[in-house]
Amino acid sequence: MKEIIQNQKTYFKTGETKDVSFRKKQLQNLYDIIKDNESAIEMALYKDLGKPKFESQVTEIVFVLSEIKDVIKSLDKWSRVKKVTTPITLLPGRSEIHYEPFGNCLIIAPWNYPFQLAISPLIGAMAAGNTIIIKPSEVSSHTQDIIEKIINENFEPGYLKAICGGVEVSEELLSHKFDFIFFTGSTPVGKIVMQAAAKNLTPSCLELGGKSPCLVGKSADIHLAAKRICWAKFVNAGQTCVAPDYTLVHKSKRAEFITSMKYWISEFYGQKPQESTDYCRIISNRHFKRLCDMIENTEFTCGGERNHETRYISPTLVNLESKDHPLMVDEIFGPILPILTFDNIFEAIELVQSFDKPLALYLYSNDEFEKKKILSSLSFGGGCINESLVHLANPHLPFGGVGGSGIGAYHGEYSFKTFSHAKSVYHGSKLIDPPFKYPPYKDSFLKMFKKFM
Ligand code: NAD
Repeated sequence: MKEIIQNQKTYFKTGETKDVSFRKKQLQNLYDIIKDNESAIEMALYKDLGKPKFESQVTEIVFVLSEIKDVIKSLDKWSRVKKVTTPITLLPGRSEIHYEPFGNCLIIAPWNYPFQLAISPLIGAMAAGNTIIIKPSEVSSHTQDIIEKIINENFEPGYLKAICGGVEVSEELLSHKFDFIFFTGSTPVGKIVMQAAAKNLTPSCLELGGKSPCLVGKSADIHLAAKRICWAKFVNAGQTCVAPDYTLVHKSKRAEFITSMKYWISEFYGQKPQESTDYCRIISNRHFKRLCDMIENTEFTCGGERNHETRYISPTLVNLESKDHPLMVDEIFGPILPILTFDNIFEAIELVQSFDKPLALYLYSNDEFEKKKILSSLSFGGGCINESLVHLANPHLPFGGVGGSGIGAYHGEYSFKTFSHAKSVYHGSKLIDPPFKYPPYKDSFLKMFKKFM
């Protein structure tokens, strides 16, 4: 590990990765390799999560392929030196920003979208011109293996290397000094990563989780809201960082909402979701047990069926009268949706504020006051009005958390900027050299300076 890191640092110093045409060539290489391995990636995702081909393509493979295309198209523009305004006091000099790569980066990925969440930050790191070590999640072992294969068989280890393994490998990696760390995973591990980064003052981006609320107001189109929430919650069997973790529905609409949710569950997955080829499984026995413990002694409004052998949990709805339930302690990260109610929007805001700032928030409403109130009162990473999840598919929107749900953001140009240092440069002019700043200081100059400022 030490040798690989050292080689990457040495290679970075050659300056080769800073060349924009080199970066584009490497990104094109990554694109071609992914294209060549599409079916192997689909198979790995199926083995890890029972992921249907459609979801593997849309949420993982096509997602990163289109990102690579966009980045290649825009990289010349993004990496150009940016001229900025120079204030009158500094004229006739000029000012600009140079985006430079940090150097040697570490990317640590989770298991839930194990391909996309490893490759998407990698695209940003490559676009910015870094050398990179990527550690996929050991939990999604089949996807980890295919990532290791496609990276290590096709890239020079001095430029890009996948290092696989569990917590010990991650810990060992974190004991080395990197120039940037990009971590996606749980909030508790995010704290460990940040502590390790702090030892070397290494800048980091933390993409974490949390309890993302979904609010359904009195004015919402309930049937459409339920359809969109049902998809967002049960895609990938609820193992989505921005899935609605719990719903807060206006009291008068609870019954209608539940009826619609049940309707869409059976429309999407049939009467027997365990037989649906479009429904995923829980990643591991440990995660399956964690979810089962959360719903022990719980009365289900819908679903609740479990099969330990296949790690199947049916799409499940749980009516709750208060947040005093194990489902309302930590992020659920599974196909179980608690439904709570509220009387007025202020009550809903108070409940959301009793948790850490969430990664996502969704509001279904046709009431302008309600929309404004939620957007101005609640802090969250990102979200949607009258939709769920899809904000992350817009590369022009930064994707990231706030507070307990993360630090920093990426996607599109934001990825490029996240993996770059914005270096400020002022070019002085020899045309004039005003005497104001030089000693001996004069009151008359100070007066003039204040006037200018
Ligand atoms: P995790 O934190 O357990 O693991 C993430 C990575 O960290 C893995 O590669 C793992 O090997 C490594 N790791 C685990 N324990 C470690 C330790 N003690 N020291 C160093 N490294 C360690 O997370 P997970 O279970 O893979 O993913 C689920 C979590 O990730 C959820 O909380 C989810 O919300 C969050 N998540 C966030 C995003 C986002 O974009 N914000 C995306 C996906 C998942």
